[in-house]
Amino acid sequence: MPLHQALRQHNLSTIADKVRAGERLTLDEGQALFDCPDPVLVGALAHAARTERHGLGTSYVLNQQINYTNICVNQCRFCSYYRKQGQEQAFELSLEEIKEKIMAQSDMPLTEIHIVGGCHPGLGLDYYEAALSTIRALRPDVILKCFTPVEIEHFANLEGISPREVLLRLRQSGLDMMAGGGAEIFAPDVRRRICPEKISGQRWLEISGLAHSLGLKTNCTMLFGHLETVRDRLEHLELLRTQQDQTGGFVCFIPLPFQTKNNQLTGITSLTGIEELKTIAVCRLMLDNIPNIKSYWVMLGLKQAQAALFFGANDLDGTVVEEKIGHMAGADSPQVLTRKELEDMIRGCGLIPQERNGLFSPVQGGQ
Ligand code: SF4
Repeated sequence: MPLHQALRQHNLSTIADKVRAGERLTLDEGQALFDCPDPVLVGALAHAARTERHGLGTSYVLNQQINYTNICVNQCRFCSYYRKQGQEQAFELSLEEIKEKIMAQSDMPLTEIHIVGGCHPGLGLDYYEAALSTIRALRPDVILKCFTPVEIEHFANLEGISPREVLLRLRQSGLDMMAGGGAEIFAPDVRRRICPEKISGQRWLEISGLAHSLGLKTNCTMLFGHLETVRDRLEHLELLRTQQDQTGGFVCFIPLPFQTKNNQLTGITSLTGIEELKTIAVCRLMLDNIPNIKSYWVMLGLKQAQAALFFGANDLDGTVVEEKIGHMAGADSPQVLTRKELEDMIRGCGLIPQERNGLFSPVQGGQ
């Protein structure tokens, strides 16, 4: 059936016209996309929006992830990663261990180092400042993408200072941009059930906006496929969109499908692959002011990550090297991909690989 006929059959012609014209979709239009029984049609609209902005170009980054501790005071119910202090598998990296991890990759032409961890009750801001300074001395040119708004608020509370002062001190030590985790789902009633100790969605947005006001770019995320409704997802996307209108510092959105293993949220059935892809497509269509949508292969798996590149995503993230958060939740993706593997995955889809850095600027010499 021709596309225009399929759009008409599913009452999506007006939405398709708005997408083509670059006009903003309403929440009800987002709902209509979720309600459409033809996910491929929704994917086609998202792919059109993606190619309008990025063509067939698909970015990737040579990066290294470091998780510095899994000891966390928040104990979120959906989290498979955190441990209590002294518990089996609890860890915290010393500064020397962080240095060793960086040096172990010294022959890789990395352009980004991504550092996040749990909200540790005993690590002061001086630990994070020293970690950043040490890495900066070893890797003067990488983009240091570190810490979520949740961690920034935690550091501020521990030190008795403002998040603004925390960000300024970390920036002084080498911080280039912030990671986007911890947003989960902003809906307060769901948040109370899945992560009651974590900062509110409102506070998460405020700290992201604060970072933007200081010139720090950040990423943003949505965790989906747990207790939230489709409406919760749409309202989450609208809050991100509004924040972006106000402060403009989100460079990338990362849709994160909930990983069901090893946590306190029991009895939840994983979304189907098609439901994941449709959600990613709606994210692209609703987030008209956030340029990049990441297909995060760690959480999606390699083949689903490739499929997502035709449902609105334009970035495949990176080499990663070592990831603990998703893998402790049952992600069965590998720990590391090489540049060649990333490029082969992209070319295998008929798309064009383009190396980027953490800020999504093209890397000289990349493909
Ligand atoms: S999701 Fe983050 S804040 Fe929540 S328990 Fe896990 S590590 Fe801690």
